[in-house]
Amino acid sequence: MNNGRKKLAIVTLGCQMNKHDSEWIAGLLSDKYDLSDDSENADFLVVNTCAVREKAEQKFFSLIGRLKALKKQNRKMILAVAGCIAQEWAEEIIEKAPDVDLVFGTRSIDKLPLMLEKFGETGLPQVDTSDDSVYDRFPMRRVSKFTAWVSIMRGCDNHCSYCIVPMVRGGEQSRPVDSILEEIKELSEKGYKEVTLLGQNVNSYGMGLSPVVDFPELMARIDAISSIPRLRFVTSHPKDLSDRLVSAMRDIPSLCPSLHLPIQSGSDRILKIMNRGYTADHYFARVEKLKEAVPDITLTSDVIVGFPGETDEDFEATHQAIKRARYDNIFLFKYSPRPGSKALNLKEMVDPVTAQERFDIILEEQKEISFQNHKTWVGKEVSILVDGASKRGENSYAGRTDQNIVVNFSSQKDNSGNFTRVMITEGKRHSLTGVEV
Ligand code: SF4
Repeated sequence: MNNGRKKLAIVTLGCQMNKHDSEWIAGLLSDKYDLSDDSENADFLVVNTCAVREKAEQKFFSLIGRLKALKKQNRKMILAVAGCIAQEWAEEIIEKAPDVDLVFGTRSIDKLPLMLEKFGETGLPQVDTSDDSVYDRFPMRRVSKFTAWVSIMRGCDNHCSYCIVPMVRGGEQSRPVDSILEEIKELSEKGYKEVTLLGQNVNSYGMGLSPVVDFPELMARIDAISSIPRLRFVTSHPKDLSDRLVSAMRDIPSLCPSLHLPIQSGSDRILKIMNRGYTADHYFARVEKLKEAVPDITLTSDVIVGFPGETDEDFEATHQAIKRARYDNIFLFKYSPRPGSKALNLKEMVDPVTAQERFDIILEEQKEISFQNHKTWVGKEVSILVDGASKRGENSYAGRTDQNIVVNFSSQKDNSGNFTRVMITEGKRHSLTGVEV
């Protein structure tokens, strides 16, 4: 039945930041549009793009071809491109894909209703990649009823040489404390069980705020006003991981014992060219402090192999770092040059065959480490927040431990959105298996 409301489909590429922005886009349009998975028949299709990895970009440009075909079938559909690629190549998109009606950047999302209105009035393409939006509370249409992302800062001031995030998402900006606390309070009242605080570099939260409230203080305040049992955050920069943050990880009851702490390389020489601002020794000194304070913490990381100029020795340092850190999991990448990044000017490219070999070596090493780590959970009873039914068959469910490890388990009851206790019976490479107790 058509109730006069229109259908909105959003295709999201890339990271959690983009997924959260898509919740914001859906929230902004919720007075007129219902969300739909059916991109082909939507009245309004938004493609929220990612430019961080080369593949994401390639994916987008092949998507443009499909978008053209979609628009041919459904002439009335309004087509918008958002996210990092929109921010970077707004003009090219309009030029290469004249069927695109709206292009808005990472800091122009709040302009969307106005852009839509103007497009309705004029029929002309609307482009906005300005950087003057207010960073405050947003109307959200959240995907989950029990886990939520909360944006606490945006942009980045670090300028790692391989990265274009500071270009496409701008400089660091911290969201006002009261605005964050208000959102947390609301989520707590609605019964949310887990919140992940989002930012490119959450450890430097608070700079520029007056009075200054740093990240550990923000989390202490969040913990004090909410009854949300689990609090997490991404992403942490190793150079800004302060003693205060280590103490917060130990002392704040709702903070989960898991941390994503990207090392990127184990070679000091490469870390310097990457402009990461720390050495491998500094990194591991921080990790030791963390493990002392929170013995059951699990760590995950990002690693790049094949960075320009990476010698066998540099690679070996990365390999040794992986063995030493014993991460629960890593996001492993082969270096790919990003237009606009400083590393683009580096000439000593690692040949693709060597880069692939290095990638495979680290991948295999990490698989084995994850497997060994996961086997140590066998026989332990853990608390799980149940995500929902798993694809493994009847009475099969999946959830995550406090350490953010995926557990597949059998149960007679669908406990989605609630905590349950599970006895771990098997440790696998990517997950644990267990039975509800
Ligand atoms: S910290 Fe480095 S890698 Fe992370 S977003 Fe900022 S510039 Fe990019």
